[in-house]
Amino acid sequence: MSGNISPPDLIFFPLSRFLNQKFGGRVKKVSLDVGFTCPNRNRDRSGGCFWCDPLGSGSGNTPEHWEIKLREETKNLIKKGFKGSIAYFQSFTNTYGDYETLKNLYTSALKVDGVVGIAIGTRPDCLDNKILELLSCLNENNFLWVEVGMQTKHDRTLSLCNRGHSHIQTVEAVGKLKERAIKTVLHLIAGLPDETEDMILQSFKECADLRPWGVKLHPLHIVKGSAFEEWLNNGKINLLKLEEYANLAATFIEMMPSDTVIHRITGERNKEILIAPGWCLDKNRVRNEIFKVISERNSFQGKLFKNYG
Ligand code: SF4
Repeated sequence: MSGNISPPDLIFFPLSRFLNQKFGGRVKKVSLDVGFTCPNRNRDRSGGCFWCDPLGSGSGNTPEHWEIKLREETKNLIKKGFKGSIAYFQSFTNTYGDYETLKNLYTSALKVDGVVGIAIGTRPDCLDNKILELLSCLNENNFLWVEVGMQTKHDRTLSLCNRGHSHIQTVEAVGKLKERAIKTVLHLIAGLPDETEDMILQSFKECADLRPWGVKLHPLHIVKGSAFEEWLNNGKINLLKLEEYANLAATFIEMMPSDTVIHRITGERNKEILIAPGWCLDKNRVRNEIFKVISERNSFQGKLFKNYG
């Protein structure tokens, strides 16, 4: 594995720096699988989004032990000098439940010693008014953010990937979360089938224009058990090369406003589940390639915001 090069402060605004400033020291997310499933998997039994693996793009932890995991990992972080943890409801769709169940889960996590906030991963079509009301209440007295899968702005691609919602639903979800002053993080994927570079850049621009609090980008990668595994075997899918992704990710950073918190600029998969591309196994190598491109361009986050297209 490659060594991790810390980017110069001015290149981009990473989540680690935001958390450090907010809490006066290091804070780390603890990824949780609390036993949710996903409306897109239940809807038509087609397996959900075609890139999704049987773990729902999640942590693969035992749902019944999530509180123990959160308590133990947070305790260990504090022993190591961290200020606390963020309980990250990651696997599947973490607003896909009834009001009381969700309220109990979120408040239980917030009561764990050392937990300084929660992060909730979900889909744009899974944020009804009741859930928004709950999030809004929690947001009044707690630190929280909500992660919404946008993936692309192109409905044709969303449909091709069996995403089960349209882009306008993402726009509406972001609007409703912003109205309630809830921090929103948008997820995007670069390299989805049949998308040209121009289409990818249009999605980046749309993401920047929506002005989320934070963003996550990763390259399309194929994992075991996903529908795309078969597409790959049948030669129906072309994956980005590392150099291509590094160039796109560098442009993504340049296109985001300078105050947008960058949560992730590459994927994180292990060799047990990843099929391709192999370079996705080495997160630090990918990050270093991206920082190299930005340095060579003598550029930084926000340089292209409002100055493109
Ligand atoms: S919304 Fe998330 S959990 Fe559901 S099928 Fe898509 S990637 Fe998987």
